Amino acid sequence: MSNLTDTRYVKDLLSRHGFTFSKALGQNFLINPTVCPRMAQACAEGLPGAFAVLEIGPGIGVLTRELARVAEKVVSIELDRRLLPVLDETLEGCGNVEIVQGDVMKLDLPALLREKCQGLPVAVCANLPYYITSPILMGLLESRLPVENITVLVQKEAAQRLCAASGTRECGAVTLAVEYYAQAEILFQVSRGSFLPAPKVDSTVMQLHVRHEPPCPVQNEEFLFRLIRAGFNQRRKTLVNSLAGAGGSKEAVQNALARLGLPATARAEEVALPVFAALADDLYGAGDPPLDPASP
Ligand code: SAM
Repeated sequence: MSNLTDTRYVKDLLSRHGFTFSKALGQNFLINPTVCPRMAQACAEGLPGAFAVLEIGPGIGVLTRELARVAEKVVSIELDRRLLPVLDETLEGCGNVEIVQGDVMKLDLPALLREKCQGLPVAVCANLPYYITSPILMGLLESRLPVENITVLVQKEAAQRLCAASGTRECGAVTLAVEYYAQAEILFQVSRGSFLPAPKVDSTVMQLHVRHEPPCPVQNEEFLFRLIRAGFNQRRKTLVNSLAGAGGSKEAVQNALARLGLPATARAEEVALPVFAALADDLYGAGDPPLDPASP
């Protein structure tokens, strides 16, 4: 049986296939034998015996094989066509794994899950390519893909930001978006030496428990997220100035902050998600002109 965490074996496998790593595709393959079983176990927790997993970026299949042990079905999306013959070899005998060649950012994921997952509850599990961590997670959450949990290995700093509490210095616009859709939890740390090739940064495995209902429903979600993005776009500025700069009315923002008991000097990073939601409803409900949709 091939050992996908044995560096010598992996180097030989890749050289037999004439494969060279692509930095642009975030190709750092896991070679620490403890990480993939722990990720697979975490992803199975709380799910019924029969469930499906959507994996993003199987690489040479090291995590895929662990997922195949715990799940009824594994659907794995890989962009790099050069890895397909490698996966044919390494996943031999894993009859419940289906590789889909494509770009996770372009595929119709709801249709893919409907077609491939036989109505089973679905979890997402991945060692994500670092260059698109946030776009992938936001795409999964915003499209309200019907998944129960998302267990991902990401750059340590990204995990700290994604799992921070809103209203603290560590948070960014993406933190509030994640908090709106899910409960985020840090599971464990993974050192840079756990990968081939070793990246320059350490990593963290984190888990998102997808909410079925938002924690603070708002009149218009799109407006809430426009407000959040505008607030964080110039995070050192006060909310009044950054929202006014994005096309809002300074006076309307000042009045809304006062009604919510917030100082006029409040900055986005000091405002927790429920307060942002109340601010969005206040501005939206008062019929104030919405922020410029073109603002970032
Ligand atoms: N799961 C493997 C592991 O843990 O060793 C590989 C993880 S590696 C960090 C990221 C993988 O995502 C690579 O196989 C890469 O080719 C793939 N990838 C990069 N961009 C992608 C995209 N847009 N859609 C699907 N896969 C992508």
